[in-house]
Amino acid sequence: MILLTSDTETKPTQAMRQAIANAPVGDEQKGEDPTVNLLLERVADLLGKEDALFFACGTICNFVSIKTHTRPADVVLAEQMSHIIRAESGGAALSSGVLMEPIASERGIFTVNAVEQALQRVTTAPYLYRAIPRLLCVEQTHNFAGGSVWRLEQLRKVCDFSRQKGLAIHMDGARLLNAVVATQTPAYDFAACADSVWIDFTKGLGAPIGAVLAGTKEFISEARRYKHIFGGAMRQAGIVAAGCLHALDHHVERLQDDHDNANYLAQGLSQIEGITVRETNPETNIVFFDVSKLRLDTAMFLTLLQERGVKMGAVGDSIRAVTHLDVFRPDIDFALDAISKVATLK
Ligand SMILES: *Cc1c(COP(=O)(O)O)cnc(C)c1O
Repeated sequence: MILLTSDTETKPTQAMRQAIANAPVGDEQKGEDPTVNLLLERVADLLGKEDALFFACGTICNFVSIKTHTRPADVVLAEQMSHIIRAESGGAALSSGVLMEPIASERGIFTVNAVEQALQRVTTAPYLYRAIPRLLCVEQTHNFAGGSVWRLEQLRKVCDFSRQKGLAIHMDGARLLNAVVATQTPAYDFAACADSVWIDFTKGLGAPIGAVLAGTKEFISEARRYKHIFGGAMRQAGIVAAGCLHALDHHVERLQDDHDNANYLAQGLSQIEGITVRETNPETNIVFFDVSKLRLDTAMFLTLLQERGVKMGAVGDSIRAVTHLDVFRPDIDFALDAISKVATLK
């Protein structure tokens, strides 16, 4: 089965398993796991931040970050189709009791003007009645917009403006390193726009567990308390951090292969009658397309495709295909062939 459902489908390589098996470990909760500590140093350095904190996954990085930046009844601004608003089970409401204000955008990347409009909506009523806008979230790359990339210049403009308006900035950098590889921009330049930023090791980087959140010493010290409260503290977590370190050493540059494969897939799809590709040149590793011109609905299309050995996922009525380190060029050819066959079924 060719798994294009998500870049979370990656399995640890033999070399990664070896690194995991040999990892020196200690008590993460007490800050005494040497492998975790090494990973935190590496990521803080990569992102140009003072300190960092290890988590099991990215969702809890967002959950804890929003809690650390806000007080209950504050407003958090985020893009309208952001993962934080659409795919985290309302966690921000649970962790932080905040109001989310969705920002309209072109493909996940928004403008200063869009932030200004959102702030105007939030601050329409007199001070007595309004909620206080406290935090802006940006998503790099933007998942539901098809792995779209914030260019540094645009990100700086939006973040500088938001800071002037008194907002803190949080970056959901689940796929930040995809943006780094796609634009050849250093990770710390993107990260410098935000007060807090995290990267996910379980997406294209191919580790089984782990995400690292970075920020100032003060921010991380507060975040550590919330991580503990919400059950995120671990013990011999070096076992999994070793997989993340291995990914940093071996799986970053190769993200370009995923981007090339996503482009190859999108180009191939655009040649198939009845298939509408959202972006024929995806910027990173995510391809969206729809099959509404075929006499099949999305669910049926996916079932028929799976019967032919290719698994993809649905996001709303669209189909999402994500390339990653367990998918190779011949697999894409195989997938395109299977899709052609399904598309020509009568
Ligand atoms: C996957 C993802 C998350 C959540 O990360 P997990 O490690 O799966 O919890 C958050 N934001 C974005 C943009 C993602 O793609």
